Amino acid sequence: YQGKRGAADIVLYAEDGVANPTHWLTVQAELRRAIERDELVLHYQPKVRLRDDEIDGLEALVRWQHPQRGLLPPSEFLPAAEQSGVIELLTGWVLRRALTDQAGWTSLGQSWPVAVNVSARNLETPGFARVVAGLLAEHGTPPERLLLEVTETAMAGDAENVARAVVELAGFGVGVAVDDFGIGYTSLAQLRSVPVSEVKIDRLFVTDLDRDPQNQAIVRSVIELAHGLGCRVTAEGVETAPVSAWLAASGCDAAQGYLYSRPVVWPHLLEMFLNPRGTGRHARPEPVEPVHLSTGGT
Ligand code: C2E
Ligand code: MG
Ligand code: MG
Ligand code: MG
Repeated sequence: YQGKRGAADIVLYAEDGVANPTHWLTVQAELRRAIERDELVLHYQPKVRLRDDEIDGLEALVRWQHPQRGLLPPSEFLPAAEQSGVIELLTGWVLRRALTDQAGWTSLGQSWPVAVNVSARNLETPGFARVVAGLLAEHGTPPERLLLEVTETAMAGDAENVARAVVELAGFGVGVAVDDFGIGYTSLAQLRSVPVSEVKIDRLFVTDLDRDPQNQAIVRSVIELAHGLGCRVTAEGVETAPVSAWLAASGCDAAQGYLYSRPVVWPHLLEMFLNPRGTGRHARPEPVEPVHLSTGGT
């Protein structure tokens, strides 16, 4: 299966250094088996509210505990999954596990919403919103405890179907965040026509924010634009205290990044944020991932 986005995607993934389609077939078959065998794991990264430094949500980030190759980041297997029906299986697995985990931390007294990344292809599939509604009902999760993150480039894809799905989801209370905002081609007008609840500024603009006047200008205007449209703003890739301070002073709502925590299994976050050990509540946990994982993503 290639779909109409196929050709363009092949070029993109080839540039990413991901191997050829023959390799994808292998990855796809392996991935199906991995999902059946429950070899995927979710790590979570907190979104920290800049106003008061409290966690106000956790983002689920999928990894594959491969029996031979170790813990693989999404960049190793998502492109192959997205080229095939495997992405439907994968998203279904991630949503179920995330809603189960969310019920877990809720039962321990934290009602943090969970954010799940979904692919363009999921939103383009008719009936996706109904599947999400069914899963919420199955898990007894209030819709406002789930947020779906969609990359800006996905929004620009099959815009009509994506917009329809976002409207449907918003209709029953599930928010949608535009992920990696700033690196794609979303125009102001597109943001206006879709009921997006959150804009996540790509870390490309964030990492050196305290020292880069151009990025400061961009981020200031994104914050103003997003707030003007009624969206909350989260900055990705916050690695230093000066960047976090700059964002807080500029009215950004929330931040994510290694300054607060790397993605880790959720009980670790409960422990770290609720029982701070003298070094400040945002002390970094011991890295529990191989270093190469930190270079994943955009
Ligand atoms: P994303 O949703 O934009 O997630 C942020 C990525 O940046 C994550 O990479 C995270 O580990 C990394 N990151 C977070 N804070 C920092 C920081 O301070 N500095 C640096 N350098 N990096 C940071 P990861 O986990 O490798 O995920 C990469 C991308 O894969 C995600 O980008 C998301 O688009 C996609 N993804 C992850 N999980 C899923 C999933 O379950 N389903 C789908 N469809 N996509 C997923
Ligand atoms: Mg995300
Ligand atoms: Mg992102
Ligand atoms: Mg990203």
